[in-house]
Amino acid sequence: MLKVLKFGGSSLADARQFAKVKSIVEADPARRVVIVSAPGKRFSGDHKITDLLYLCAAHIKYGVSCEDIFAMIRDRYNEIIAECGLHISLDKEFDALWDKMKNGISQDELASRGEYFSARLMAEYLGYEFVDAARWIKFKFDGTVDQDASYEALRSLAEDRRVVIPGFYGVMPDGHIRTFSRGGSDITGALAAAALGADVYENWTDVSGILMADPRIVDDPEPIRRVTYSELRELSYIGAQVLHEGTIFPVREKNIPLNIRNTNAPDHPGTMIMESIGDEMEEGGFITGIAGKKGFSIITIAKTGMSSEPGSLLKILNVLAKHEVNVEYLPSGIDNVSLVVSSDKVSRSLYEMLGELQKEVQPNKITVTEHIAIVAAVGRKMAYRPGVSGKIFAKLGENGVNIRMITQGPEELNIIVGVEEKDFEQAIRVLYNSFVKENVV
Ligand code: ADP
Ligand code: ASP
Ligand code: MG
Repeated sequence: MLKVLKFGGSSLADARQFAKVKSIVEADPARRVVIVSAPGKRFSGDHKITDLLYLCAAHIKYGVSCEDIFAMIRDRYNEIIAECGLHISLDKEFDALWDKMKNGISQDELASRGEYFSARLMAEYLGYEFVDAARWIKFKFDGTVDQDASYEALRSLAEDRRVVIPGFYGVMPDGHIRTFSRGGSDITGALAAAALGADVYENWTDVSGILMADPRIVDDPEPIRRVTYSELRELSYIGAQVLHEGTIFPVREKNIPLNIRNTNAPDHPGTMIMESIGDEMEEGGFITGIAGKKGFSIITIAKTGMSSEPGSLLKILNVLAKHEVNVEYLPSGIDNVSLVVSSDKVSRSLYEMLGELQKEVQPNKITVTEHIAIVAAVGRKMAYRPGVSGKIFAKLGENGVNIRMITQGPEELNIIVGVEEKDFEQAIRVLYNSFVKENVV
């Protein structure tokens, strides 16, 4: 049995958090591979180490001294060393890093040191071996990870050992350090789990799993107990961001379940993400989660007989593609089609685009509705329950939410409604209260 664990920044913010990590790792002998982020915020208003490192990089770029910020970073690690009683000193390495900063260091290399030092300390604290990510995460020149080469390298470094690995970075073919985008330690963990064929990838953070709705909108939402990879993709695409989006692919490909857990509540089972969920494990209502996003526009094009006119949709999409606007959703009728697009992306070229659509398609009418929010109710069980969408629309209507667009994905995993931005929060609360809390269906 092998469990690969990744701890996020808040789980490593100070010595107290380090101690929690140690007791979680020691509670289960299968927890042999540990990936760590850089120390995060200890309290609101505090700074993440990674943010401070990027701040140093910006100072260096503009020739402004970052001595004070660098001292803050150093102190954070020294405090952890002292309070955890570690017999290790990073002084020499910090001095060497400071020299390198003075002589020119890439932003990526500097940012990566947050996880590097964090992993050095955690390895010492757990008595595990330190394995540098630069020794096995191999990027190609196009910036993607060379999975085969990376997996093979990690297997030779870590198979059957107890190791701590820094998250967030790897190495380019020319030897330079490269980081993933922000939040990328999740990907390091997923790659390690896939390379070593783990039985589970445990992603330890500061919430007891993926919540069924945004906690800033719904009071104290329940965590999702089980969710499929496909459902999670729908939820995170539209707003529920707990994991970096590059996390799913490596573990899904190897059919490794992903368990989101809370370092501050280690007994909570968290959220289990799997390829499929057996009937015997099913519980709860038909909605797995609710997510949404503001900032959309709907362009509706009406033309009599459009459905029987070959190529009209292609002409429309070509105009949008020319302006680099991708269509998020595309509900259509017999004589009309609606294009749901991100307002940001169309704002600059909207009138030009409308002119081109007019010319290419010669519609009877084009209308643009702005300030639209998208709300998605996602649930694998919706497909088997007739009348679900009717019930959702009725509830929203009863509660004064005006629906401007409805659509459903082909796999019937989700029901998507477009509402006015001013009704966004209300729509999410109505769905949560009616179908999760009161479970009226
Ligand atoms: P880590 O530092 O452990 O990687 P992150 O800050 O990247 O943690 O991700 C965890 C955070 O994601 C939570 O603290 C929460 O604020 C936020 N979050 C956003 N949407 C959700 C959701 N639907 N469920 C749970 N957490 C969410
Ligand atoms: N420390 C990095 C960041 O803050 C990576 C991570 O935490 O996953 O983005
Ligand atoms: Mg994260």
